[in-house]
Amino acid sequence: MSLDQFGRHIHYLRLSLTDACNLRCIYCMPEAMTFRPETGRMRPDEILRLARLFAASGFSKFRLTGGEPTLRDDLPDLARGILELPGVKEVALTTNGSRLTERAAPLFRAGLRRINVNLNTLNPEKYRAMTRGGDLQKVLDGIEAAQQAGFELKINVVAVRGYNDGRDAVELARLTLARSWYIRFIELMPIGRIAGFQQSHLVPEKELIDTIAAELGPLEEQRREKPGKARLYRLNGAAGMLGFISSLSRPFCRHCVRARLSSDGRLRVCLLQDGETDLLGPLRAGADDANLAALIAQGLQSKPREHALRASVIPQTRVMSEIGG
Ligand code: SAM
Ligand code: SF4
Repeated sequence: MSLDQFGRHIHYLRLSLTDACNLRCIYCMPEAMTFRPETGRMRPDEILRLARLFAASGFSKFRLTGGEPTLRDDLPDLARGILELPGVKEVALTTNGSRLTERAAPLFRAGLRRINVNLNTLNPEKYRAMTRGGDLQKVLDGIEAAQQAGFELKINVVAVRGYNDGRDAVELARLTLARSWYIRFIELMPIGRIAGFQQSHLVPEKELIDTIAAELGPLEEQRREKPGKARLYRLNGAAGMLGFISSLSRPFCRHCVRARLSSDGRLRVCLLQDGETDLLGPLRAGADDANLAALIAQGLQSKPREHALRASVIPQTRVMSEIGG
């Protein structure tokens, strides 16, 4: 079991399969983003070897992310491979949803059951603007395909001031009245070279809740199954739920049980602090499993007590798409 120095049981790995993406969301990456060459990205055998070592050190939950993980043709094989590792209880996916029409059924057959889809507005023009060119209909079709396949879905919404913080957020929340969807609003985090934009476009959780309540009535707070990052609410009589994840307004570091592995094989123990441990370099240089497991253990011990955004310490080395969210 991986207990860190503050007693947290770190058992949830967000595994980025690629830094490349078919969208360029304004809140995630700069417009002129370039991606890493293929050689710098972990190969399937490298991903599975490191995943096995993480599982052996107590990680039971994995989330495949990116960049856009559905760009990898080997995604179903990787999902199946990780699910088959001893100790792994759950593998989930985070995606922009644009390729789910083709990918949902093979992923379900591979054993995946939970998908988070990133969807910021139901307005096609605004969606195009926020993703710099994305096609909303593809995402809606993808969500439909995932539901048909049998997936449990969550929708992630990043609220960006002046883009989707008014009517768009209300319309997304309204969906939960009739459908049993779980829609989570994620507070915009400042990361890397677009931190200035992100800071100036932050919509605090309280403001968003007030905007939704003004249109749709009060949000009733729901009991959470376990302490964690999202606070849960339900609109009066709604079939679905609303969640709010707010790293700045209401940090949840005390309950953070996550680590991240970037597509270039670096263990990052806090999304919002830059420290990383290179695993792919040593792996390619011939390190054995014991050496790699020791590097993982060492990295986990460096997990900070909390991020330092409130003290204006902003991570610099990567943008969000290079970490995986
Ligand atoms: N491409 C996939 C997607 O869009 O879901 C997976 C990778 S993306 C980096 C993972 C999550 O990060 C997305 O749900 C997105 O909403 C979130 N995200 C991106 N930039 C963010 C930011 N600056 N602050 C908060 N969340 C962000
Ligand atoms: Fe791509 Fe996801 Fe980042 Fe949007 S949020 S640019 S879809 S990685």
